Amino acid sequence: MNKLSQGSYSVNFADYVRNLEKQGMDIIKLQTGDPFFSTHPSIILSASTAMKSGRTKYCDSRGLPQFREAICQKLQSANLINASEENVLVTHGAVQGLSVVLQHILSQGDECIVLEPFWRAYEANIKINQGTPKIITLDSTNNFALDVAKIKSQINRRTKAIIINTPNNPSGSVYKASELKKLHDLAAEEDIFIISDEVYESITFDANNHFSIGSIEAVPSRVISLFSFSKTYSMTGWRIGYVSASKEVIDELLKYNQFNITSVPEFSQLACLEALQSSESSSYVSEMNNYYSQNRALLINRIRGTWLEPITTIPQGAFYSLIEFNDGKTDPLDLAKKIVTDIQVSLTPGIAFGDKMSGFLRLCFACERGILEEALERLIDYKKM
Ligand code: PMP
Repeated sequence: MNKLSQGSYSVNFADYVRNLEKQGMDIIKLQTGDPFFSTHPSIILSASTAMKSGRTKYCDSRGLPQFREAICQKLQSANLINASEENVLVTHGAVQGLSVVLQHILSQGDECIVLEPFWRAYEANIKINQGTPKIITLDSTNNFALDVAKIKSQINRRTKAIIINTPNNPSGSVYKASELKKLHDLAAEEDIFIISDEVYESITFDANNHFSIGSIEAVPSRVISLFSFSKTYSMTGWRIGYVSASKEVIDELLKYNQFNITSVPEFSQLACLEALQSSESSSYVSEMNNYYSQNRALLINRIRGTWLEPITTIPQGAFYSLIEFNDGKTDPLDLAKKIVTDIQVSLTPGIAFGDKMSGFLRLCFACERGILEEALERLIDYKKM
């Protein structure tokens, strides 16, 4: 039986763009959620020092104790989550954290609520684990805000969990603390897990502060939070994330981790320890966030008064903007390809974020400013072509 009817739309599209490049097309790529910044040199140095001193072996399957200790301090101070070392598991990026969480909590026929637009890995991992994704589409005219009443109406006795993602990929929505509190009350009433994907936690704009739903619990219980070094520190290739949850859940996830990956590379963990602890790395994070914020301002200013203004979302967080671009004639999947061919700008097709998102395209602005400017000029002119 094929558990997945479809691979990743976004990865397939990235491969398609790569192929065009091989054929000689010069493309401005705004489709992948990978910041253009290099990893900070002090982080790279700590990895190479670790490698040279022989830290290249299997290691602690929960994650290095001193690294988990530093993660707990970060969870307590930045997220206000009351985590101790037994509440933390180091994973091979947040995506592998998601995978072991769903391996553990889902049994055949269990439903897991996913809010559309969503990162397709949620739906795929639910299906791989024989669960049923229950998709709830959020309102585009209300910034895709969390809608607890709508969620409540979709819960039934098979509902096992709900996955939320704030700041959100791709909508840029940042969920309000008051709504997250209501969601936690609902989950407690219905006795379901909340899986909270917070990989974009550090990137928010204006007064839209990130709130970790796990901070509501005096002792971690039903909230399972996913974090990552990928976006915050521009370390997508280092593949380090972590899960924070109750001791009972973490002890179970550890078993899956041991059979899935054995352990996470020690030199990568030591590099991330440096990322958490060095003042240079923390000023670098501020510098990167500042840059994203200025790129967002550029986007807002440049599209003002153009045909793009009414159809482009202004994100509250993360580094994406959605453009409702459907001309009503083009097959939605072909739309992104047509734009690449016509103006050599690549944007992710909305279908990568849910079946009802096919009229949208996602633009990633974690890129060099000049490139963003050029892409915006081409998109603004596109209407006239
Ligand atoms: N969650 C979301 C919403 C993402 O967009 C991504 C990566 N694009 C991830 C999780 C996975 O992050 P990681 O690199 O830590 O696996």
